[in-house]
Amino acid sequence: MFLTITTTGTDERPATDLGFLLHKHPDNAQTFSTSYGIAHVFYPEADTARCTAALLLEVDAVALVRRGKGKGRGGAPDAALSQYVNDRPYAASSLLAVAIGNVFSSAMRGVCKARPERAAAALPLRVEVPALPARGGPELVRRLFEPLGWTVTAAPVALDAAFPEWGDSRYVGLVLESETLTLSEALRHLYVLLPVLDDAKHYWVSSEEVDKLLRAGKGWLPGHPEQKLITSRYLSRRWSLTRQAMERLELVRLAESDDSEVEELDNAVEEETEAEEKPTPLAVQRREAILGALKRSGAARVLDLGCGQGQLVQALLKDPSFTEIVGVDVSMRALTIASRRLKLDRMGERQAARVKLFQGSLAYTDQRLKGYDAAVLSEVIEHLDLPRLPALEYAVFGAARPRTVLVTTPNVEYNVRWETLPAGHVRHGDHRFEWTREEFRAWAHRVAELHGYEVEFTPVGPDDPEVGPPTQMAVFEIGTTTIAAKEAKAA
Ligand code: SAH
Repeated sequence: MFLTITTTGTDERPATDLGFLLHKHPDNAQTFSTSYGIAHVFYPEADTARCTAALLLEVDAVALVRRGKGKGRGGAPDAALSQYVNDRPYAASSLLAVAIGNVFSSAMRGVCKARPERAAAALPLRVEVPALPARGGPELVRRLFEPLGWTVTAAPVALDAAFPEWGDSRYVGLVLESETLTLSEALRHLYVLLPVLDDAKHYWVSSEEVDKLLRAGKGWLPGHPEQKLITSRYLSRRWSLTRQAMERLELVRLAESDDSEVEELDNAVEEETEAEEKPTPLAVQRREAILGALKRSGAARVLDLGCGQGQLVQALLKDPSFTEIVGVDVSMRALTIASRRLKLDRMGERQAARVKLFQGSLAYTDQRLKGYDAAVLSEVIEHLDLPRLPALEYAVFGAARPRTVLVTTPNVEYNVRWETLPAGHVRHGDHRFEWTREEFRAWAHRVAELHGYEVEFTPVGPDDPEVGPPTQMAVFEIGTTTIAAKEAKAA
């Protein structure tokens, strides 16, 4: 396995600084023994204008097999490796990634005492891997690297140059070029994406790998359009690990985004999995519960208050019994995403007449919200500061006054069941509070009493015998008995 990294330079910024950045002096060829063989680092060229570092990995096939079979590493080896005859020595890009991690670990972390300013800056880079196993072909190679700022040349390698009619092998000759990346970013891209393309990891994947992936993926994996594929393949399609990683990536993304972002911690992933069964994402279960309750209420004209990116509006549009659907949110950004999701600009006239999105704050009474059959507040109340909550209560239950109001909110008791949520943390950076079942019920009963509604509660998601369901839903209906009782009193 062979990889080169080339940079170009000037008198002020000599290309040979690459040696400092990689912590490997251009004048010395160096050898490192890694767990699967010997890695050599040397510089085929090194002058002010141009400098190339090469990493050559000599895989010891026998050691590899022994290691795979060895006890005490907590797992079974990749089946393909329990034979001595395989392509690993020549094309093991996941081994190359391990070697990058071993040999260039400081450079990967962006640490360079001698040239700290260079380590933090982008530099012209050209990376070449002459024979890269790429399941998914040149097309996937581009989808993985291009969004990160690389110009990609991925040429399929013929099975045998002498016999073109035999067609292409599963290898590509890869050239990556960029002017916008730091060396640390470049190495971390390779560290993750080479094994992803290889798609045959050479050791049993453990939960430690999730940490490695998140560390190497810092700053680029959250938000990568192929995040699911990368995560799932990197973790050898182990569903529970993939889910863990996706949850954590989501938490990272949310922590980095502004507070108008919609929460999707539990809007979990759907990805190709093998043996393991995939659970229905909680967000989907929540939408189904809401749709069911709306149908039962007989509502036709529905408000989605705090509609976020419009997933529920989209689901409501699919059911013709909802004749008018209005999404309201305080965040313009969320509404822009919602309107793109719904393709409002390309919608036929009749569909378009059924749906409206507008900006508004639920902390103020709003004439536009009057006269609807039902209102949904899905995962919204916990985004308001507690002292502002009575204003929302009045705006919805007092002023807008739809016959039915559905409110969902997290059940904080369930948080201990989230595998990756640190103890004592709320699920989303913008949650101002999360309630126990008791607290939610007390709130709902008080609101119902105050505004003349009756309320019932429905669990959403698995109803855990100890801590209850992950989401709690209250269904409010304008209380006929209450009104009748009041009228009787007045009479
Ligand atoms: N209902 C969606 C989104 C929930 S996230 C879902 O279930 O997935 C909460 C949403 O409430 C965000 O989009 C946020 O912008 C919105 N929001 C928060 N405070 C609001 C307010 N005072 N008025 C209107 N929308 C608000």
